Parts: sequence; structure tokens; C-alpha cells
Amino acid sequence: MFQALFLFLIALVAVFSIILIIPIFRRPIVSTPLLKIFRKMLPQISQTEQIALDAGTVWWDGDLFSGKPDWKKMLAYPKPELSAEEQAFLDGPVEKLCDMLNEWQITHELQDLPPDVWQFIKDKGFFGLIIPKKYGGYEFSALAHSQVVMKIGSRSGTAAVTVMVPNSLGPAELLLHYGTEKQKDYYLPRLAKGKEVPCFALTSPDAGSDAGAMPDFGVVCRSTFEGKEGVLGMRVTWEKRYITLGPVATLLGLAFKLRDPDGILGGEEDLGITLALIPTNTPGVNIGRRHFPLNSVFQNGPNSGDAVFIPMEWVIGEEEGVGNGWRMLMNSLAAGRSISLPATSTGAAKLAARTSGAYGRVRTQFKTPIGYFEGIEEALARIGGNTYMMDAARVMTASAVDLGEKPSVISAIVKYHLTERARQSIDDAMDIHGGKGICIGPRNYLGRPYQQIPVGITVEGANILTRNMIIFGQGAIRCHPYILKEVAAAKSQDEEQSLLDFDEAFSNHGNYAMRNVGYSLAFGVVGDYIRLGIPYNIAPEALTYYRQLTRFSAAFALMADVSLLKLGGALKRKERISARLGDILSMLYLCSATLKRFEDDGRPATDLPLLHWSMQDAIYQMQQAFDELLDNFPSNIVMRWTLRLIIFPLGRRCLLPSDALSHEVSRLMLAPGEARDRLTGGIYMPTADNEPLADLEAALNCALESEPVEAKLRAAVKAGEITTQGDEMINEAIEKKIITIVEAASLKKMEDLRRRVIMVDDFPADLSEASCDFRQGATH
Ligand SMILES: Cc1cc2nc3c(=O)[nH]c(=O)nc-3n(C[C@H](O)[C@H](O)[C@H](O)COP(=O)(O)OP(=O)(O)OC[C@H]3O[C@@H](n4cnc5c(N)ncnc54)[C@H](O)[C@@H]3O)c2cc1C
Repeated sequence: MFQALFLFLIALVAVFSIILIIPIFRRPIVSTPLLKIFRKMLPQISQTEQIALDAGTVWWDGDLFSGKPDWKKMLAYPKPELSAEEQAFLDGPVEKLCDMLNEWQITHELQDLPPDVWQFIKDKGFFGLIIPKKYGGYEFSALAHSQVVMKIGSRSGTAAVTVMVPNSLGPAELLLHYGTEKQKDYYLPRLAKGKEVPCFALTSPDAGSDAGAMPDFGVVCRSTFEGKEGVLGMRVTWEKRYITLGPVATLLGLAFKLRDPDGILGGEEDLGITLALIPTNTPGVNIGRRHFPLNSVFQNGPNSGDAVFIPMEWVIGEEEGVGNGWRMLMNSLAAGRSISLPATSTGAAKLAARTSGAYGRVRTQFKTPIGYFEGIEEALARIGGNTYMMDAARVMTASAVDLGEKPSVISAIVKYHLTERARQSIDDAMDIHGGKGICIGPRNYLGRPYQQIPVGITVEGANILTRNMIIFGQGAIRCHPYILKEVAAAKSQDEEQSLLDFDEAFSNHGNYAMRNVGYSLAFGVVGDYIRLGIPYNIAPEALTYYRQLTRFSAAFALMADVSLLKLGGALKRKERISARLGDILSMLYLCSATLKRFEDDGRPATDLPLLHWSMQDAIYQMQQAFDELLDNFPSNIVMRWTLRLIIFPLGRRCLLPSDALSHEVSRLMLAPGEARDRLTGGIYMPTADNEPLADLEAALNCALESEPVEAKLRAAVKAGEITTQGDEMINEAIEKKIITIVEAASLKKMEDLRRRVIMVDDFPADLSEASCDFRQGATH
């Protein structure tokens, strides 16, 4: 009986295998009905959605989606480095600009950058970082651009945004790629030299995240313009808001929908989203009022126009550019989003890391530096680990842009995760600093970044939308090795070719799915012993992470397939499923960047705690995302448990970083050292007298000298060798040769520096003028 059943099963498997393997059987029996089902499942995608999906390029994200990342390829990406000219710009004009910036004066007193700073920014060409040299710009690499913005951002959020916006998605970037030669020759030199202040207006009151739904419109017509009759152009009506640099701009980049009801251009009536560059002194342009975005006093405001005539030559790309605006924007977004916010976010996290470590050592409570308390260690380690990973992702993404990529999915990943991690780091830093972070004034270096963080969360794709819809939504279609081929085949009008192409893509897809099941299971069970595809020239300390990432990449590819198969177009509405898949893809990317950073930095042993903490934390988060995904997956219990068995055959075994590891990370942040310098490298560190950050650094250095002396004193008091208190105690300790005169001086210096560090500003009752009293004995 058993033998018969066994033979029957074997025969069944053999028949199935023959059907699946041999095309002449597979095509009619499997692929033809599947193609029909697949066509029904294809989601309705609007033209603007399709353009957004098609934008940019696929890079390392494609490997992560493949279920079998080619680690050799990743490790062979060139180590990103600055040129001598770029470094000189950072050490020269950028350092000088940072010296000139006083965020309290900017945000509280002037509510704008001071005139000399505006002039310096324009004169030194800060608006022309990405403009080619032949137009008078710097033609800097994306890495240099990122370093510039990060450094300025660590000093002043207002100045960073002011510099960042003209170098990101805006007139210069759009002209470079889509402008006519005449437009480039005229505007790019003017932008590079700061003769024009640009802004770009996309957002309308009724169209924020769904910017493609903007009501702003233009109607093609002929009119008299600058004395010439019958000039071809359009009358444009718009109402925009939140436009950065808008109130001071001389050149307004504007997005609107163009219509041609009279058929003047000889084509369709609805021409689509079109971009134009409009001098702000054009009659009819209303500009100049300001918004006040949470104490980020960069210039930002609304603007509008009612049937303003603009000639065709103001359209980016002139007549050829008509209707191509959305494509232009989506393609340019990938590069800008890869650089600006990742840089400012990393700058904020580095500031949090540098200051919280130093403050944790300098501030004492219960006769102990607060950084030694386990509760503070937890927050410090989180800042350290997050900052390490953020910088890795920032640099790797900028280097992708320098390799010629426009990594759209990766740009969404770094936009979301780096702004969120910056928010976490600044929150942690605020908690560590207690009241010192809360009382605002010239000596508060955290309050303004804390207030400004939500700006980064909202712009360039608000974070909830980016996490829930964009990362996986775009990733699934762009990075998946077969979906695009299957979709193209399904949409083909040639039925015969459609079936052949679909069949080929589908059979490869089947093999890919089987391999992902195999890899996921194999790494899940014996992952500690195998090395499939993992190169030998990696840091041995990191081997376990390569294994875990390979395993989760395969599991992710499997879950992506199952989700697409089960939900099809409905995945668009199942945002929480999409968000968790996006989280997994994101962690795979952030982790890969971190491994690459460790190799590029030369595997420094002192960075190992940072590497381990950030990898373990992210891998745990990835495991958590899988777990929640499986718990909430819209299917029956059998399917959920089958998937769980494949993904977690031995259960969930990845752990959060241990307390001991957090202790190690926090210790390297509490003392000067190469790991701390590497972690926070590239931010502005003032040295002038009375600069709060300079005082903090000096206090940290002094604490190392004074702590052993303080310990000697405490021991002497405990042993009853010293009986006096205050200044007398020091004299008694010197007399009794418990400490030397030099040691006593270091105690005094530390007392002064500690007081400078812990004091906060106070104001008269009308809050008019801040002062900070460092005198001994004053209490604040
Ligand atoms: C300081 C600042 C500077 C700016 N600078 C510029 C500029 O220079 N030029 C310009 O054109 N624009 C600019 N913007 C506009 C910015 O891009 C928009 O604020 C952003 O697109 C979000 O639009 P909204 O604020 O109207 O929010 P809404 O679109 O109303 O979104 C509200 C919330 O809903 C969420 N949401 C929306 N759709 C979905 C979805 N499908 N799924 C899940 N969640 C969703 C969002 O994530 C957000 O959390 C700026 C905004 C600010 C605040």
C-alpha cells in the first residue's frame, strides 16, 4: 500500500516537473492561464505614478532584491574620496562661513541670515556647487556637496537649507539636464555666481504629497510681450506655498499643467505638467510674504500669479520641454534626495554624538559623570550606533551618484531613515542634556536642531508616505529582477510574443523563487557554517553579518514575491504590509553600507563596538519587521505558518545589542579618541573663545586630567585624611601631599570649565537680551 502511494507521489512530482521544465508543456498548461490572471492583477497606474516609478536608476538595491547580493561587487565600489580642490573649499570658504554663522543671532534676533553672510554665500559661489566649471560653478562631486551641506548643517540649519536648496532639485539641476543651450548659457553662470537666487515651486495648498494633482495651470496663447506682438507663450495661474527661498528669489521655477484648447501647438489639449523659469519681477508675479517654519528661519513663503503671460522660451527645454515636467522632476529628485537631507541629518546626529558624549563626561550628578550611568549609556549607544550607520549610508549613497547613478529607491530609503535617525539622535541628546538642552539662548547648541528636525521629516516626500508607499512600492517594480519583464510581456499587443516573453520571465522567476526558499532555509538552519557567495577577503568580525544579510535578502525576495502574488495591485492600499517590506529592504541597504564603510575605513579595531551595535540593532529591527509582516499577512494560517517556517526555521534568534556592547559604545563617546573623531568627522568644531562647543571640548579634555585627582581627594576624604571643605580642602590636600600643585590647578580649571558648560542663558523679564553668567556661585 505504502509502496504504491510512494510510487504515485513520485510519478506526480515527475509529471509536474516535466510540465514546469519543458516549455512546450509549460506554455499552454501553466503560462497561458497565469498570463490571464496576471493581466487581471495588474494595478491601475496613473501616468504620473508610472513616470515616478520609472524615474532614476537601480543600483545596489537591485542586488538586495535579488535574494543573493553580490558582496564582491559591493566591496569593489571605489572608496569615495574628496579631491584636493574640494577639501580646500571645505577648509577655506566653508570653514569661514561657519565661523560667520551665529544661529542664535540668525534665528532669534534677525530671523534671517545677516547681510554679510548672504553676500559671502553668493560671492563664494555656494549656489553653484553642482554647476559645471564651464559655466563658472565648482562642478563638485556628490560627496563634496554632501560634506559641505553636512558641515554647514552642524552649525546652522538655516544656512544649510539656504545653501542646499539651490544645489538640489531646482532651476540649476533642471537646466543642466533639460535646458536648451541658450537657457544654460544665460542662467547657469548667473546662478553659479549668485547673481540669481533661485527657488522651485511645486507644492500648492491643495496638492502637497500628491503634487501631481496640482490645480495650477497654463493656457497656450499668443500675446504682446516686451513690445513684440504675437509672441508664442502661455497665461499661467498658480497658487503655491512652502516655497524655500521664495520670498527672496529672483528666479522662480514653477510647475503647472499646460493646456492648449485652441490647438496652437497642434497636438493634444492637455499637454501635462510643464516647468518654467520666471523672473520674479515679471508683472503679475506675487511673491515676498513668509512662512515661519518652526524657528528654521530660512526664507520660505507662498507665491501666486493670475493669468501671467510667459513666453515659450521660459519653459525649461522650450517647446520640447512642454508636458515633460513631471519626468524632469522625478528624475532630478533621485539625485537631490540622495544628498541634501541625508547630509543635514547626519550633521545633526554627529553634533548630537559629539556633544552628548562630552556632556556625559563633564556633567556630574551623584558625584559621578552622568555618562557612566547605565540609563545614559543606553541613549549614548543609540546615538553612536545610529550616527555610525547614518554616515555610512550617506557616503555610500553620495558615491552612487558620483558613479553616475540616480538611485531613486535608495534615495527614498536614506531620506526616510536618516531623517528618522536624526530625530532619534537629537531626542536622545536632549534627554542626556536635561534642562541644558531645553533653555534656549546663544549657549544652547541643541534647541534649534531639535525644533528644526520636523522640516526634514516633511519635505522631499513626507516620511509616512515615503515609508508606507514609496520605498517598497517603487522598489518592487524597479528592483525586482522579473516583475518588469512580466509586466512588459503582459502589456504587449502581440499575443504570441507576449506569451513567449511571459513564459521565459515566469520560468526564471520560478527558479528564483525556489532558490530564495532554499537560501532562506539553508541560512536559517545552518547559516553559521556556510558561506554561499560570501567572499573571503572580508573582515572576519563581520562574517556573521554577511551571512545574516544574505539570509534575510533571500527571505525578503521570497516575501516580496508572495506579497505581490497574493495582493497584486491591492498592495498599494495595504500600506502597512508595504511599509514592513520597505523596512526590510531599507535595513538591508543600511547594513550593507555599514559593512562597506568598515572595509573602506581600513577595519579600525576601535570602531568595532560601533559596527557591532549598529549591525545588531538593524538586523534585530529587520527580524522584527519580518515577524510583524508574518503576523499581519493577509492570508490563511497555513500559509502564514509555512512562510514563518521558511523564514524562521529555528525561531527568531537575532538579539538586540547587549548592555555590555552599549557600554563599550558609550565609553568611546565619553573620551577623546580616534573612534570618536571618526564618528563625528566633518562637522564644524569652533575654537574661538566663548564658543559653547569649544568650551565643551576643552572641558572634556580637562576631565581626563582632573578625574583621577578628584578620585584621590574623594578617597582621602573617605579615609579621614582630609577634614576641610571647598578651597580649603584643596590647600589641605596639597599640604598633606595628597595632590600636587599642578593637580590642584587642573581641578580649578575643570571647575571653571564645567561651570561654563553647564550654565544656560537667562533673560530679563521681557526676554530681550540673553546673558550667561559663568561666575562662581551664581545659580541658574
Ligand atoms: C519648510 C518647508 C519647506 C518646503 N520647501 C518646498 C519647496 O521649496 N518647494 C516646494 O514645492 N515644496 C516645498 N515644501 C513642501 C513639501 O514638499 C510638502 O510639505 C510635502 O510635500 C508634504 O505636503 P503637505 O505638507 O501638504 O502634507 P500632506 O500631503 O497633506 O501630508 C500630510 C500627511 O499625510 C501623509 N500622507 C499623504 N499621502 C499619503 C499616503 N498615500 N499614504 C500615507 N501617508 C500619506 C504624509 O506623509 C503626511 O504625514 C516645503 C515644505 C516645508 C514645510
